[in-house]
Amino acid sequence: MAQIEQRPKGPDRYEVDGENIYLLGSQCSACGAVFYPEQTVCGRCAHRGSKSLRLGPEGVLYTWTRIHQSTSEFQTPYMLGYVDFPQNVRVLVPLVENVEPTMGMVLKLVLATGPKMAPGGEPFELVHGAPIVGEERQA
Ligand SMILES: [Zn+2]
Repeated sequence: MAQIEQRPKGPDRYEVDGENIYLLGSQCSACGAVFYPEQTVCGRCAHRGSKSLRLGPEGVLYTWTRIHQSTSEFQTPYMLGYVDFPQNVRVLVPLVENVEPTMGMVLKLVLATGPKMAPGGEPFELVHGAPIVGEERQA
């Protein structure tokens, strides 16, 4: 039996549904604007009512960067990407290490460790963007 390594949970709000990972955002019940992380007051219309909304499990990489220097709580180098989700919101997520990112590539959300470290020095488990190959892509 495979040993599953337990990692400290990071600050991400997400749900696991089968093999799919979804970030949990919010959608304004007045104007429909979508936010991640969840907002109690709409940033577009200032309405105070919203519902939870799943983001993902796939998105398109809008742009990305590689971080070489950071504060001590981050293990460098690492990559960050802005991902456009079909729920009409763009979210900054770390990218898995074994990828050469290209703008417009389709990513799926996965759980991976780093780059942010827990206070004890162990990497957090965070939602990352990972490349998706054609056969895996959902309709
Ligand atoms: Zn609104």
